[in-house]
Amino acid sequence: MRSLIQWFDSQGAADASSLQARQASQDTSSIDWFRVLPFLLMHLACFSVVWVGWSPIAVAVAVALYGIRMFAITAFYHRYFSHRTFKTSRSVQFVFALIGASATQRGPLWWASHHRQHHRSADQEGDPHTPHNGFWWSHMGWFLSKAHFHADYSRVKDWEKYPELRWIDRFDIAVPVALAMGLFLLGSALEYFAPQLNTSGGQMLVWGYFISTVVLTHATLTINSLAHRWGKQRFNTGDDSRNNGLLALITLGEGWHNNHHYYPASARQGFYWWELDISYYLIRLMGALGLVWDIKPVPKQRLKQGEQR
Ligand SMILES: [Zn+2]
Ligand SMILES: [Zn+2]
Repeated sequence: MRSLIQWFDSQGAADASSLQARQASQDTSSIDWFRVLPFLLMHLACFSVVWVGWSPIAVAVAVALYGIRMFAITAFYHRYFSHRTFKTSRSVQFVFALIGASATQRGPLWWASHHRQHHRSADQEGDPHTPHNGFWWSHMGWFLSKAHFHADYSRVKDWEKYPELRWIDRFDIAVPVALAMGLFLLGSALEYFAPQLNTSGGQMLVWGYFISTVVLTHATLTINSLAHRWGKQRFNTGDDSRNNGLLALITLGEGWHNNHHYYPASARQGFYWWELDISYYLIRLMGALGLVWDIKPVPKQRLKQGEQR
């Protein structure tokens, strides 16, 4: 693992211009240790599984919460709030902003602001999380730094008119805390009313919140780190974005990251039928149910242009 990381970092160093390297050293030196602590504790809390044990119901809740929150992040935080690739009602927008916030990746405005900046300067100076600045920087150093604690809200002016979204952003810890507390209460209630399920408040908290959230977090972060390193480049996007089927599987479709950098305005990231894009299928399902509409496709002409390359 160590040599793998060194390889990533050496790749980054080789790519970096002197300006980027200078910027990297400034950024990485400004890691906000006050923010690292809760992030570290969230990981350590997973180890308490040795005390609380497991049960099929607790594992099922962890898996379900991984799936629904990954969908909220990929379909809404990313494809909706960052790229506006489909439309929806204010209430659906709010519900998925809440579910997205429960993933503990800050609020939708903070997320979209940084992500829009990523597309504006992908793997160039100004990209918040290019692996040119080192693998660990692209994976998690960037959001643990002082430089990226605050978002530039001028990039998300289109969302600022919604006070409910601004509230989620302002109190971004509220939803994750509510989820964690709710899971503890659920587990405690099940322990009392359905003892045959063999669960408890602590067990539901550890599986449903801590383990599920830590796995979800790192799976999402691979798109910033690995999806700009590992995989194939179908399109010449001028950045290091890659298509990677394995990453697409664990992130419900985000692994088609080179496709996405080629045409970010599309709700679909797996451009062909064989490119599994579960979030897109679910967006289409929501479309069929009338919950979302104006789902933007990849124009055939753009696809052809890319293929002719
Ligand atoms: Zn990218
Ligand atoms: Zn994007």
